[in-house]
Amino acid sequence: MELKDKVIIITGASSGIGMEIAKVLADAGAKLVLAARSQDKLEQLAHTLTQTETLVVPTDVTIEADCQAAVQATVDRFGTVDALINNAGFGPPAKLLDTTEEIWDVTVDSCLKSVYLMSRAVVTVMLENEGGSIVNISSVAGKEGYDRRTAYCAAKWGVQGFTEALRVELGHKNIRAHTINPGPVATPWWGNTSDSQSKAVMERMIQPEEVAAAVHYVLSQSDRIQIDEVVIRPHGSPWDAA
Ligand code: NDP
Repeated sequence: MELKDKVIIITGASSGIGMEIAKVLADAGAKLVLAARSQDKLEQLAHTLTQTETLVVPTDVTIEADCQAAVQATVDRFGTVDALINNAGFGPPAKLLDTTEEIWDVTVDSCLKSVYLMSRAVVTVMLENEGGSIVNISSVAGKEGYDRRTAYCAAKWGVQGFTEALRVELGHKNIRAHTINPGPVATPWWGNTSDSQSKAVMERMIQPEEVAAAVHYVLSQSDRIQIDEVVIRPHGSPWDAA
């Protein structure tokens, strides 16, 4: 797909990977809808993306009405939606016995329910337009198990299953579905990383612009092919740098 003037919604654009996806897609000339809860951060980002048109839509992706409103605002402003990047997510690490119902719900709702809600809202428009792409930022935790990650792995494996089922259900309608599955990425996700050991670890992690480049790659392929999935790992363990 030629990305110039395409209309793309990015959830979780206020930080980390989502912010870098916005920069890469803006450079490619796409019109962007920036969605997350932090309106101030989205507006700061929008001010820097002078190379394209942007729309800031404060959105909690765990709330159906917010997701529907974000897609409607996109259609009202730009007339269509060509692609959706489901990137928003939050998942604190916890052993199973420390995984409260609150931790479970925030993880599964922000990482998985959000993908269902945003996709359902956007697919209505894509069916009318006879095409579109949905890119889900999953994780290697959507393909493998990790310690202290029962809720997060459950959510991200769910994203993988959702994506594969969506591809079967809607592929023949020219709606594409992809996952990007990164290992550890150097973003605010990891909390305070100001000490020198943490900085060394972050430098060895995948950088968020490297995940953004994968999103650009997946979206910009010709209509003949589909990249189902991109798995990105750091070369060696970043924690060896500590
Ligand atoms: P950040 O913490 O930097 O950013 C998370 C983003 O998600 C923020 O923009 C936040 O926006 C948004 N978000 C969280 N909850 C909600 C919500 N309920 N409604 C709307 N937006 C929400 O993390 P990353 O950039 O690292 O993570 C982005 C994605 O990448 C996540 O899905 C994560 O699982 C995945 N990932 C991250 C890895 C990593 O090591 N960092 C590795 C593999 C995958 P706001 O708070 O403004 O709402």
